Amino acid sequence: MLTVSHLTKKYGRNVACRDISLEIPEGEAAILLGPNGAGKSTLMKSVIGLLKYEGQITVRGLNNKSSEAKRIVGYIPELPALYPNLTVSEHMEFIARAYKLANYADRVSDLLDAFELTDKKKKFGDELSKGMQQKLNICLGLLPDPDLVLMDEPMVGLDPHAIKELKREIDEMRNRGKTLLISTHIIDSVDMLWDRTIIMQSGSVMACVERSELEKSGKSLEDYFFEVTENRNADASTRPADGATAG
Ligand code: ADP
Repeated sequence: MLTVSHLTKKYGRNVACRDISLEIPEGEAAILLGPNGAGKSTLMKSVIGLLKYEGQITVRGLNNKSSEAKRIVGYIPELPALYPNLTVSEHMEFIARAYKLANYADRVSDLLDAFELTDKKKKFGDELSKGMQQKLNICLGLLPDPDLVLMDEPMVGLDPHAIKELKREIDEMRNRGKTLLISTHIIDSVDMLWDRTIIMQSGSVMACVERSELEKSGKSLEDYFFEVTENRNADASTRPADGATAG
């Protein structure tokens, strides 16, 4: 579904992503795990076509910057980018029209209900608290129901109810065969939500592990993460030979 080949992104002399290659098969939920500054957001922004980079990225074989690819990819950015002069309802309407969605009224009201924004429908973007902005950001990303969904640190700033709802949405998308790439630096927040975890550090993919492999090894994701990132008792049995290719 998603193929990244030899992606390198530099900001001046700082290499944010260094020769990254990975693949996420159709219908898998992949977690991108890594400390702050690992390059997770840069990888996501490259996939969505927001940055210039070296290398190739394809979505179902289509160039990621093509309009066909953009139609099947959704992105929930780390920081909500809302319009101060549009209300919550108008934001949803704007996305529905941009994606040319049909019969979206029920989906809009279900999402706003789930994320407790129904009574905020008439509030403007700049009247929302940070948490509400993040909830609206999530609703906007989920509204078009894309086949590949990228979420950059989606749990940050959410209250417990919204975290529960988001996990329910993620579970539901997995059941419907959607492909997901979710970045986080908080290991606990993603437990049970993934089929594959890709660990990034200092701009490189350090390891990729499938849930079944990790379960077989008897290790927790946390133990595995620290083994990989702090080189503690690194065990070759759960690390891919080239350490960089998922899929
Ligand atoms: P993560 O999402 O894992 O926290 P980022 O992709 O945001 O990591 O950042 C990777 C590296 O790239 C960091 O060293 C960060 O400082 C740098 N970086 C990110 N965005 C920019 C930018 N717009 N300009 C310059 N450097 C950036």
